[in-house]
Amino acid sequence: MLAAYACDPARSRGRRFAQPPAPTRTEYQRDRDRIVHSSAFRRLVYKTQVFLNHEGDLFRTRLTHSLEVAQLGRSIARSLALNEDLVEAIALAHDLGHTPFGHAGQDALNECMAAFGGFEHNLQSLRVVDRLEERYPQFDGLNLSFETREGILKHCSRAHAQQLERGEPGGVGQRFLAQTQPSLEAQLCNLADEIAYNAHDIDDGVRSGLITLAQLEEVALFEDYRREVVAEYPQLQTQTQDRRLLYETIRRMLSAQVYDVIEATRAALQGAAPHSADEVRQHPPLLQFGSDMRAKSQQLKQFLLHQLYRHPRVLETTGRAKQMVRFLFDVYLAQPQEMQARFLGRSDAARGAPDPQRAAARVVADYIAGMTDRFAGREHERLSKLKLVLRHRNIET
Ligand code: MG
Repeated sequence: MLAAYACDPARSRGRRFAQPPAPTRTEYQRDRDRIVHSSAFRRLVYKTQVFLNHEGDLFRTRLTHSLEVAQLGRSIARSLALNEDLVEAIALAHDLGHTPFGHAGQDALNECMAAFGGFEHNLQSLRVVDRLEERYPQFDGLNLSFETREGILKHCSRAHAQQLERGEPGGVGQRFLAQTQPSLEAQLCNLADEIAYNAHDIDDGVRSGLITLAQLEEVALFEDYRREVVAEYPQLQTQTQDRRLLYETIRRMLSAQVYDVIEATRAALQGAAPHSADEVRQHPPLLQFGSDMRAKSQQLKQFLLHQLYRHPRVLETTGRAKQMVRFLFDVYLAQPQEMQARFLGRSDAARGAPDPQRAAARVVADYIAGMTDRFAGREHERLSKLKLVLRHRNIET
């Protein structure tokens, strides 16, 4: 059923620690199952996508976002005879490294880590599956196959790629140095991610009242389908029915993008005619939108950036989130005993590292990145009180 250019689990580049094959599952099914059972995966439900986790029960979280990416990815994979299991594994794991409080949390942590090698969420997702999950007696992490790890590491700076390459020559860092592409399954997850958030951020944005249907008139990708729906169902233009109008428009928008990707990718594959997944990696990206849809998708992205992600109300909450992350970072770095035991243990061990400060900061970044919004909020509250008490005692003595 798989195309020649798809990733074939029988020809996987394998795991970092060799394990006998599972009797009933392929390597990528097994990866997906390990991801679903990981603690990092369960935490996604309490992590912010755009709207802070406590702001409403219907907004997307990192978990529901990841499920939507997996759904879109599998749907496209099946049409192109790509490996659905691999797409699902990558999609479900792609956001495991995200900090609490969405991009605000990631930006704040990156600033805190500026002197210690920075913080990139894609790299952190890889750290989660390679090192931070503790589930097996024989090794750290989930010991996933090369192809799943390749897909999880969507972006990576050159400096980090060199670092990865030193630890794992010819491994997942290499393509960022050699300027080659990942598998089609990995390319597909990137695009499915974009399709998913563009659509669900419109939905969440309108639901929150921060963007309106009237504002969306300037967005061609949305407006074309909205007009089409209104022409077919004029009765939806009332206050009580406009939710159906929104959903039907988004539904058509999603379908159009899916069909566009399938069509444009088929054409690109016909031209390049790769005979294997390895040949795919030597070509420029083959999994793509057609040029018209690419432009429309960019326009929608720009709209969301200006009207939603930079909306004063969003910026206000993200500003507070940044303060919390900075506060937590400073406290844990100065007082590692405030972290959970296993992180305190790693912090103690960092003293023996070649660069102890850098290693200690990385432990703090790992600890904070793994937190849910709620846990980070509770820790902020606890440590704020503790600081007050300590300050008070200092004055007394
Ligand atoms: Mg994502």
